[in-house]
Amino acid sequence: MRRANPRRVKIHRSYTVDEVARLLGVHKNTVRAWIKSGLQTSDARRPTLILGRHLSSFLHDRRKRSRQPCRPGQMYCVRCRAPKYPSGKIADYVPLSPSFGNLRGICPDCESFIHRRVSRKDLAAVAGNLEVSIPQAEEHIRDSAAPSENRDFTMEAHTHEDA
Ligand SMILES: [Zn+2]
Repeated sequence: MRRANPRRVKIHRSYTVDEVARLLGVHKNTVRAWIKSGLQTSDARRPTLILGRHLSSFLHDRRKRSRQPCRPGQMYCVRCRAPKYPSGKIADYVPLSPSFGNLRGICPDCESFIHRRVSRKDLAAVAGNLEVSIPQAEEHIRDSAAPSENRDFTMEAHTHEDA
């Protein structure tokens, strides 16, 4: 995974969206998302040009911001290198054990999967106002924890009572 390293940017150059994407190893949609979120462009010209010094300072600011923890409902996108609310405000809870798992969503800007490790008991707080689907598999984990002999015994006991 290549990092969007501000040191690759030559401040006296200007770049197209494609050139920025190639230079930093990010998706073009990521660069477009940066422009939407405040990266300056010289919009008098076509194609859109981004001045190196604007790109460099934007990346430096973004790095500082990305060190901040995700808010409730956000997951970190490794591709955009920023906390994101998942597309459609929906996420899946993917259990990795009975006590913790990953929240998984889709980055609205680059469409990669975004994840956030969460303990089961904190799920509601971490998910914020996201709509979270919890797979049936989690119920299986709980079911199989109960010894099946007990269930058979109970059924037999009931049968005897009925008879
Ligand atoms: Zn992304």
